[in-house]
Amino acid sequence: MAYDGEDAANLVARMNAELRDASPQTILRAAIEQFGGKLALVSSFGAESAVLLHMTAQIDPGIPVLFLDTGMLFGQTLDYRQRLTNRLGLTDVRDLRPQFQDLAVHDPAADLWKSDTDACCHIRKVLPLSRALEGFDAWITGRKRFQGGDRLRLQVVEHADGRIKVNPLANWTKEDLDAYAADHDLPAHPLVEFGYPSIGCWPCTSPVEDGEDLRAGRWKGQDKSECGIHVERATPAMEVGGDI
Ligand code: SF4
Repeated sequence: MAYDGEDAANLVARMNAELRDASPQTILRAAIEQFGGKLALVSSFGAESAVLLHMTAQIDPGIPVLFLDTGMLFGQTLDYRQRLTNRLGLTDVRDLRPQFQDLAVHDPAADLWKSDTDACCHIRKVLPLSRALEGFDAWITGRKRFQGGDRLRLQVVEHADGRIKVNPLANWTKEDLDAYAADHDLPAHPLVEFGYPSIGCWPCTSPVEDGEDLRAGRWKGQDKSECGIHVERATPAMEVGGDI
């Protein structure tokens, strides 16, 4: 792990002091300058992903983009990933898939989501991302404060699990995102027009009603609002393949 202890705390404090009120593009440039080839962007190619991907492609289209293909995504998301990648000229989008052995042992019928969504997210999201981040010191996320829940207190720069996380859109509002997408004529995810303002795997994503929280359709009816990749790990929920 590249960043731990006082070094990490000092770096996070300095970057937050400098970037707290900066534009997303300034934050992206600062992150690229700080971490160079040890920086990746993690994107779901979901409802709000086009804005950050477009900004990044304008600065460095070769930055590694990590996409969690859980095996449970909507077909529309897979199409959108391809279309947006081509449109923006991103040259290094990497599809992260669950390991065959993990699925064979823990989810052979592909129905773990019915009984244990945390375990399902662990083998289909947390572990593949953890493996892919091995070669990186820092990663960029698309989280925003307006998404609510645990994200209300989101800082521009954070430290978690030995890495730095950079959130260029932390300060942006939904109106800022919509205006940017319109200004640059960015294509919307095809499910947005059907009432999905936040899009993950098909078994765990529902449309939302007017006035509901934007993430209300994720794991609807469950006491779960995050898949686990943004939850700092003290002890792994499940040891799979001895990777974590
Ligand atoms: S969001 Fe649902 S289907 Fe996707 S990995 Fe998590 S529990 Fe499994």
